[in-house]
Amino acid sequence: MGAMDREWFYKDNDTKPARRPEPGPGAGSGVQRSPSGRVPLWALEESLNGQLQEHAPGRTTHSRKPKRVRKPRRRRSGRGLRLGTVGVIALVVGLYLTPTILDRYILAPALPYLPGSPAPPRGVDASDVPLGLPPASNGSTSFVLEESPDDSQDFVAYDPCRPVDYVLRPDFAPAGTDGLIEEAVAEISAATGLTFAYRGITSEAPSEDRDPYQPDRYGKRWAPILISWTSPAEIPGLEGDVAGLGGSLYAHTPGKPFVYVAGQIQLDAPDANVVMQYPNGRDLVKALIVHELAHVVGLDHVDDPSQLMYEENNGLTALGDGDRAGLALLGAGPCVPQL
Ligand SMILES: [Zn+2]
Repeated sequence: MGAMDREWFYKDNDTKPARRPEPGPGAGSGVQRSPSGRVPLWALEESLNGQLQEHAPGRTTHSRKPKRVRKPRRRRSGRGLRLGTVGVIALVVGLYLTPTILDRYILAPALPYLPGSPAPPRGVDASDVPLGLPPASNGSTSFVLEESPDDSQDFVAYDPCRPVDYVLRPDFAPAGTDGLIEEAVAEISAATGLTFAYRGITSEAPSEDRDPYQPDRYGKRWAPILISWTSPAEIPGLEGDVAGLGGSLYAHTPGKPFVYVAGQIQLDAPDANVVMQYPNGRDLVKALIVHELAHVVGLDHVDDPSQLMYEENNGLTALGDGDRAGLALLGAGPCVPQL
């Protein structure tokens, strides 16, 4: 093999959990609310405590809890929560990514074209110019981008010069959710300018360690984003109040920016079934999908309760100004046909 002039590696962009939404105002009388009256819909640190940390009394690492056990209210002191969030994210990275972090390939230029390559040929479906343009930023700064792995690169994004493919594993889809994923994708597409392309249904099962290149299943191209309705039985990370997980993998070749090449959204179908019964359940489930999609394209949680990317949703069903400003930025990433 010739000079080792090509380097690839993949990393998750933090698979983020979302807590199962609780009934909104006007739902049942037994709804627990915070002192402010707000109803949290998802929260990062709570959702993983049961698996990864021993925050709460009586909860041990990797213990399996009965479903639907309401977790203790998390504290509302912002700084403490943020620190806690960072800690959990770090653990998630370690848990989810140990296998893929070790996948660090040194490839000769021809290797992507050879049988058994861990990466597809370069530039599949890549256009010379972006397929769409993001809307002009509204100027809000109330958003946080996923951390970049490279100090010289402000953020990682999907390549706007090619379609962002996605497939759906439709099994277990809750009644009444027809069209919901397409609506959520359309919102993220409009907010980023990225062109999403639905590539049909798949039988691929969701996984916490998914291969971003599956030529036998999807052809010689990066695997599409896999959106699946699933359950804690299949994805233990959805146990308890966790309603969804979302994140992307990035790839890199030397001298070029990191770009996201594949991603996943795992939606807790039993939880969504419950939420769909709420008066505004369909909107809440759609907001959950939009929130996860925003993680997939590169937004992190923001410490602003008026944004959908706040780690705890208080009944919001629409993107906020900060969400939109961040998504507009993420639609303006670099085109990298070398991947
Ligand atoms: Zn989240």
